[in-house]
Amino acid sequence: QIFMPLNFLGFVYREIRGSLANIENLFDLLEKPPKILDKDDATELQVSRGEIRFNEVGFYYDEKRQILKNVSFTVKAGSKVAVVGESGAGKSTLVKLLFRFYDPSAGHISIDDQDIAKQTQASVRQQIGIVPEDTVLFNDTLYENIRYGKPEASDDEINQAIKLAHLDEFVDRLPNKGDTQVGERGLKLSGGEKQRVAIARTILKRPPIMVFDEATSSLDSQSEQAILSALREIAKGHTSFMIAHRLSTIVDADNIIVMDQGSVAEQGSHEELLALNGLYSRLWQAQQKNQAQIEEN
Ligand code: ADP
Ligand code: MG
Repeated sequence: QIFMPLNFLGFVYREIRGSLANIENLFDLLEKPPKILDKDDATELQVSRGEIRFNEVGFYYDEKRQILKNVSFTVKAGSKVAVVGESGAGKSTLVKLLFRFYDPSAGHISIDDQDIAKQTQASVRQQIGIVPEDTVLFNDTLYENIRYGKPEASDDEINQAIKLAHLDEFVDRLPNKGDTQVGERGLKLSGGEKQRVAIARTILKRPPIMVFDEATSSLDSQSEQAILSALREIAKGHTSFMIAHRLSTIVDADNIIVMDQGSVAEQGSHEELLALNGLYSRLWQAQQKNQAQIEEN
């Protein structure tokens, strides 16, 4: 008699863990957005090429304040597209819409010509790996936190992802290595360490579409360079959508989208944008100047 409830609790725990693995990260718990429900006739997103298209997308969190206005751009299959712009320009909102935390208030977002608002949320998230600005860790071991990226992964695969995310030295120093408990009730990780856990998860998952939202902003510039070069390798043949904090990290992007107050102000390659002598060029010069000052001191 007494074992029944315990078994049942074990079942509930596994269920919850299973569904967290699907949720994939915890924007949900952080922001509690209104539930986006799948349509009754929702279909499963099928990704063959990995092309993303924003078509005249408008969005507001609150009717009183329009956030995105008429945003259109295409991320060609297998290409690397960067999004830049000042804080508050709407960059992370683009990512939240792509991951279907919200549906657009106007326009459409499609992946391989399928409107994602008409696909199941789970199938959209299945195809996209995301390294958010702030990663929330589960109360579990470090290994399990990485395994969320791919529940069936072998230990070898996990260790490989840890190496590529430059977490191996950190793990080696932990009291119980990868079996150390982390999260709110365990070891607290720094912003940079959490980012590397999220990067390891995404490396393990290797989805056709990878999204990085200022994913290396908390790292020192040496670790940033090392991780970016690992990410470049991993992203080969995948579509990647990268929100950049430091412009110097995305000069090689196939296309750079410059956001300004919720609209696309400019887009093009680094050289094209510099030649335009507009917002991008101003942002670039401001950062170059800052960098020179840091080096002087
Ligand atoms: P960025 O990533 O470019 O800094 P965001 O997309 O995070 O910009 O934010 C764009 C605008 O939307 C900002 O003015 C921000 O305050 C607002 N915003 C972001 N998230 C929410 C939210 N959950 N509810 C209401 N407003 C939000
Ligand atoms: Mg942001």
